[in-house]
Amino acid sequence: MKITRNAALLFFLAVPPVAAQMPAATGQIYDKLVIRNALVIDGTGNPVRGPYDITVEDGLITAMGRHNPNRAVEADRVIDAAGMYVMPGIVDLHGHIMFSRNGEPMPRDYVYKLWLSHGITTIRDPGSGEGLDTVVAHAELSRDNRIDAPTIIPYRTFPGAATPDEAREKVRELQRSGAAGLKVFILPPDIFAAMMDEANRIGLPVAVDLKIQEIDALAAAQAGVRTIEHWYGIPDAAIPGPQEFPLSYNYDNELDRFRWAGDIWRQADPELLSAVIDTMLAHGVSWDPTFAVYEANRDLTRARNLPWFDDYALPNVMEFFEPDPSRHGSYHFDWTTSDEIMWANNFRIWMSWVKEYAGRGGNVTVGSDAGYIYHLYGFGTIREMELHQEAGFHPLEVIQQATSNGARALGLSNTGVVRVGYEADIAIVNGNPLHNLKVLYGTGVDVVENGEIIHRGGVRYTIKDGIVYDSPALLEEVAQMVRNARTDRSTAP
Ligand SMILES: [Zn+2]
Repeated sequence: MKITRNAALLFFLAVPPVAAQMPAATGQIYDKLVIRNALVIDGTGNPVRGPYDITVEDGLITAMGRHNPNRAVEADRVIDAAGMYVMPGIVDLHGHIMFSRNGEPMPRDYVYKLWLSHGITTIRDPGSGEGLDTVVAHAELSRDNRIDAPTIIPYRTFPGAATPDEAREKVRELQRSGAAGLKVFILPPDIFAAMMDEANRIGLPVAVDLKIQEIDALAAAQAGVRTIEHWYGIPDAAIPGPQEFPLSYNYDNELDRFRWAGDIWRQADPELLSAVIDTMLAHGVSWDPTFAVYEANRDLTRARNLPWFDDYALPNVMEFFEPDPSRHGSYHFDWTTSDEIMWANNFRIWMSWVKEYAGRGGNVTVGSDAGYIYHLYGFGTIREMELHQEAGFHPLEVIQQATSNGARALGLSNTGVVRVGYEADIAIVNGNPLHNLKVLYGTGVDVVENGEIIHRGGVRYTIKDGIVYDSPALLEEVAQMVRNARTDRSTAP
């Protein structure tokens, strides 16, 4: 069943007190919006152009021309972008929508507002863990400007199946329920083959997080997966025989799993690896590496003390990150100097292959996987972009990966580029992100201007589908949620 606008709203309202937790949308729509005097990073890798005046009507970019200070502008809203940079809204390919953490509910707009305030205008939810019906309903509400949220592309975790026929039926059922794609973890090879065959037949894209299993990146690419998340299955396909784990290794022990994952790139044979990525390339696979969610492994102290936690991290989110063997990704007990060194080396090899993949023409994207391992929504996506730069990419390429490459991986032909005819998905940044990607952090940066240190940066406005959001105002709402949650804690009996 395709969920119509009204059905989505009814569904949404039918689940109290959920609807009541969602405040009215604050985004503004104008018949005609003009962004004046902006330097433009178009998101395709082209150099900066401008200053331009950009006209937005009906959610689309309808005109772009050289800024002329003497020309009068008629519009319902004019944004003066002097000194600012316009870039496409960010596409976070790995953004889990979360309404609770550590067993405690959070304001439902907490994650959405952290994303929007960082210029993220599209997210793919790789799993729809809050329920496919809910995520599909939120996607509709977001599109209609009834909630403040990025454009949501709901992928649904494939639940597994007992037989190949059942796998096929489940693929069709998930598509009928509104899934825009499937997220697939470990499956027996016959179930994987049937699931892929059916998904390809009905045109449902598949994202894989392969973990460690019989299916590796070679088999997945040949079967037609659209994206490979993280890195699982890629070095594994270039290791003859099993991985060299300690003999006491147990995959279901989170500490074992994450610790020894840090040795896998070293074990891969470079010649075999070269052939593996050529196969991924031949099959048009996008690689969404999500570097930043693993960064704690190479520097735990840094990860635990990020400056944005002070104002923007809910207490239950921080508690979830703390070591506990019962929680996914919360494995940092007995995390040693040797572990960090192993992971730092692992990062170097991994990054060099991501660079190599892009160099051969592969589509590399930006995904955060925030909500795990000291990795906060919104901020984490910007950190991911910094790590792409560390992998050797020019900042123009990094922004391309975070915008048009993401759109390409999702098959969205009308977003991710600042160009006439494209959707008005735009971030107006208070500074030059090419000079320093850190200006994209909501917390901003210190810069020297006219001999004085001043604080600037952050995304000033996020525009999604022509809907204008005041990004610092959204961020302040988040800060208020955090203050409220801390007060509730301290006054709880
Ligand atoms: Zn994930």
